[in-house]
Amino acid sequence: MAVTLRSRKEIELMRRAGAVVASVLSKLQEVAEPGVTTAQLDRVALEMVAEAGAEALFKGVRSPQARQPFPGAICASVNDEVVHGIPSETTVLRAGDLLSVDFGVRLGGYCGDSATTVAIGEISSDKRRLMDATKGMLDVAIAEARPGVRWSQVARKMQQYVEDGGFSVVRDFVGHGIGTKMHEDPKVPNFVSRELLADDIFLTEGMVLAVEPMVNAGSYHVRTLANGWTVVTKDGKCSAHFEHTLAIVKGGCDVLTARV
Ligand code: MG
Ligand code: MG
Repeated sequence: MAVTLRSRKEIELMRRAGAVVASVLSKLQEVAEPGVTTAQLDRVALEMVAEAGAEALFKGVRSPQARQPFPGAICASVNDEVVHGIPSETTVLRAGDLLSVDFGVRLGGYCGDSATTVAIGEISSDKRRLMDATKGMLDVAIAEARPGVRWSQVARKMQQYVEDGGFSVVRDFVGHGIGTKMHEDPKVPNFVSRELLADDIFLTEGMVLAVEPMVNAGSYHVRTLANGWTVVTKDGKCSAHFEHTLAIVKGGCDVLTARV
């Protein structure tokens, strides 16, 4: 596993890409309300990407499971949809929905990737708890990631944090290194496994990781719908997703997709 370390200059370029991602997610959070379709959100993202002179990373991505390349600029996953929800004119947001939006761009040759979960109107206290636990899990990673620490130590604390809340960590999808490409080595799981312990990531200054916990209200099992993209919980219960692009820097980590 070869992990590319990024220079300070490269990290600054990634911060610029990250700032575009953050501004799009902030805008979508504002726009997402009852009656709005996920296709409308996708159009807002595309317009902002064009204005910024950036490239939307998800559009046109291919998957061995899917006949069609991913058609959206954003992934918009509602309620029991975990990730890779396809923006659609027929997906109308309703009060009480939990919407996860994942978005990434390349700008000046470097990538940024981030996701957030948004409450549509008033949501149930159960959904609120799930959303807060998932965000809290990402905050644990931000607090713990620093040079000299093994990723398994961070992942253990993240996993403990959400499991203590009675939730489960999705196993089939994990975070990733990021740089000139959206997905680079290493794989960055949000849980501890034998594989991780056998091939741990020793956090080093200059590593840039997209950390993206996906948390389910019920069991962690997921399945992919017939379109080959949309991943849903097997038990039909809700899921939430938060992601930031983090640079490992002296003494800690720097959130390159921080919202302002
Ligand atoms: Mg993402
Ligand atoms: Mg990602």
